[in-house]
Amino acid sequence: MFFKNITVLNENFEVCENMYVGIKDDKIEYVGTEVPDELYSYIYNSEIYDGAGKLMMPAFYNAHAHSPMTLMRGYGEGLSLQDWLEKKIFPFEDKLDGYAVYWGTMLALAEGIAGGIVSSTDLYYFSPDEADAVLDAGAKMNISRSITHFDDSNPLNSPRFREMEYLVKEYHTGGMRRLLTDVSLHAEYTNTEKSCKAVADFAYYNRLNMAVHLSETKREHEECKARHGMTPAAFFEKTGVFNTRTTAAHCVWLEEEDFEILKRKEVIVATCPISNMKLASGIADVRKMLDLRMNVALGTDSVASNNSLDMFEEMKFAALCANIKTGKASALTPKELLYMATRAGALAQGRLDCGKIAKGMKADLQIIDLEKANLCPVHDLRTSLVYSAHSGDVVLTMCDGKILYRDGEFLTIDIEKARRTVNILTKKILGELN
Ligand SMILES: [Zn+2]
Repeated sequence: MFFKNITVLNENFEVCENMYVGIKDDKIEYVGTEVPDELYSYIYNSEIYDGAGKLMMPAFYNAHAHSPMTLMRGYGEGLSLQDWLEKKIFPFEDKLDGYAVYWGTMLALAEGIAGGIVSSTDLYYFSPDEADAVLDAGAKMNISRSITHFDDSNPLNSPRFREMEYLVKEYHTGGMRRLLTDVSLHAEYTNTEKSCKAVADFAYYNRLNMAVHLSETKREHEECKARHGMTPAAFFEKTGVFNTRTTAAHCVWLEEEDFEILKRKEVIVATCPISNMKLASGIADVRKMLDLRMNVALGTDSVASNNSLDMFEEMKFAALCANIKTGKASALTPKELLYMATRAGALAQGRLDCGKIAKGMKADLQIIDLEKANLCPVHDLRTSLVYSAHSGDVVLTMCDGKILYRDGEFLTIDIEKARRTVNILTKKILGELN
């Protein structure tokens, strides 16, 4: 496929107009201001896309999500995190099965793909069913079986640990590496020292990424200190959790030494501003993290606490949160926010060849319609992308060179079936709960 006359957010996250971009197989092979000499090789049996009035930018990499929770969108509103989990979410989740997880994931993938997201770092269970949905939809995911372990029994014998092992054995690098299996510990408060060590060792020896929730609420943070005499970050460091590439979601209540631990261990923070505000958890100090040269990526968290998968919204809220936190009206630059939502997420997922529009990178990209009312006029395009654009402005999403969504049509997902099935399953589960 060949794009002509298109505006591009280039590899340095700068805006370049009237560009030509050539895609071959799953890669970006050409980006330039001139028509390439070997133009015929891009258009042979393929298409020339007229990019007038359009912008090409890297696709989004959502650094923290629980995709199957579309089934719980809008359920249990108005509660703080602990009440929300214990009274609403956990009882609902007890009723789930693999079929519900497959279709819940499919609906989340549709919503994400239509808004430019090609990949998410996803923690959940019934993971093989979730993985099947990702492979069927042609998207990417860093998927993990979220581990919880409450008692003193050997964690290696738990069904959760077994599901994690099965997932890694059967699915790691599936779909030409679109699917990568990570390892995840749900959180400090849902695990024991023994289970943290066992899961950390498994990740380390299998060279897998780790994902955790960390210091999301003040209560979680303080209770960990009372339980272990140290913060969640210190506890995870002590139990070896950070010895592999780790993405830590939230990080709202970090203390001075926690920043140092996360920086030293090169932990990537997945900040989830909308979820944190919705559940009244607090505001992470993202400006401070970036000033310390820590890695920060952006996550939506689940739609049960968001309630949508819109990375444009997430960029905007991250910016606004940082303004409130610092008292400065330009705490994060649009360039930093665009980087966090794309390249930083790809790096967090260990996808080093993703997240930039540059020669040799994977062709994971989105096309934005710049001729929308909400994008007029434009003084600075990056500012418009962060503060004015929304997921509805995406007109094409490509993953590994394959178009998944174009002009309102899904090419790999039966959206009607996904919507219908999720509606039926949600009603059925609510019927059982009441
Ligand atoms: Zn989460």
